[in-house]
Amino acid sequence: MLSTAQSLIRRAGEKLGLSQTEIEKLIAPDREHVFEIVVGDRKLPAYRVQHSRKFGPYKGGIRFHPEVHLDEVRALATLMSLKTAAVGLPLGGGKGGVAVDPKSLDDAALEEVSRQYARTLVPHIGPNQDVPAPDVNTDARIIDWMADEYAKVTGDTSGAAFTGKSVGKGGSLGREAATGRGGVIATAELLQAKDEADKPLTYAVQGYGNVGAFFATIAASEYPEWKLVAASDSSAGVYAEAGLDAKTLDRYKAGGKRFSDYTGATVVTNDELLALPVDILVLAGLGDAVTERNMAAVRARYIIELANGPVNEAAARHLDGRGVTILPDIIANAGGVVVSYLEWLQNKAGEQWSEQEVNDKLRTSIVKAVEKMLATSRTHTVPLKEAAFIMAVERLTRG
Ligand code: NAP
Repeated sequence: MLSTAQSLIRRAGEKLGLSQTEIEKLIAPDREHVFEIVVGDRKLPAYRVQHSRKFGPYKGGIRFHPEVHLDEVRALATLMSLKTAAVGLPLGGGKGGVAVDPKSLDDAALEEVSRQYARTLVPHIGPNQDVPAPDVNTDARIIDWMADEYAKVTGDTSGAAFTGKSVGKGGSLGREAATGRGGVIATAELLQAKDEADKPLTYAVQGYGNVGAFFATIAASEYPEWKLVAASDSSAGVYAEAGLDAKTLDRYKAGGKRFSDYTGATVVTNDELLALPVDILVLAGLGDAVTERNMAAVRARYIIELANGPVNEAAARHLDGRGVTILPDIIANAGGVVVSYLEWLQNKAGEQWSEQEVNDKLRTSIVKAVEKMLATSRTHTVPLKEAAFIMAVERLTRG
């Protein structure tokens, strides 16, 4: 993922006529914090990479996952700087993570990990310095603990040092659904541009977690002509040619169950899901989901990158060559950071906006970014992913 992100930056930089020094400066993070969290007799590697704060405080989520490592956090931090630049937010990019499987911790240990993470980083984060948010396996409950720890140590109770808090603790209405909602808005805009907006299309979602499930449930109510035929989690996928009910799957997953045990549809492997004959493949699991290993099997005409970096560079080239349209992560999943920005503004002003107001602002931001990406793609005759990176690199270097 890191090499894909860096290579896309280099290509965009070369298209814009940047020098090698300018390109290397864009790639290098400002700071990396590497530390350990001690819980019981376990020592957990922890990271916060602050990539760029050219336009405002570093902004990006914190991931709890056993496979978190420094290179992944670097890649994700870099992607955050590009995302905030591509969408035109007055924020920079950063990312954090703890190498832990949260399912291996009881509630008390999970709270201790979350509080220790925030406490260690207190000197380096804050409303005008670095504003972390949730990511994979971190939710409002975890962010509430972190925000509370930050407030205890610093005395700053504005809540503006973290976004993704629960609504009762200063979170924004609409934040939880924002990434999925932004993905639906971006997909609809893309289909409109391709004259496919009103066609009945089928789609599969790899990774039916927060983002994937919100994408599917919002799509079901706003674009009923898109038919969900498959969805997966880390255990397996479920498939029904006649269609699946997004809310039923959401309730099933909310009950803590795995798709490998699902009885309401055919159970398939994640590899089989990627190879289904659908119009749209929504990638909402983890990075590097489509690579040299499985790219030839993909049959969808559109790929929506809701996860960060789910299609690696070689696979993106291969798919571009086959005429597959990839809606890139830094636009497709930017809804989360857009509403994080709105949460930060509300906290700083001591306000609480209505969900409708938040959703309207989200729509305006995403529509504008998609339009700009489509125009950049036409101007430079490049695929959408390259166009999004050109937009971002141009803003990061020329302002
Ligand atoms: P999440 O709630 O933890 O959901 C992740 C989902 O992916 C879960 O259903 C998980 O399955 C599944 N999964 C994990 N490994 C998989 C694999 N190898 N194959 C298929 N499915 C797999 O996380 P999330 O917040 O939705 O984030 C998903 C992606 O979106 C991440 O890449 C994240 O960086 C990106 N993203 C998130 C946000 C946000 O606001 N949350 C914003 C921008 C980007 P299990 O249920 O079995 O664990």
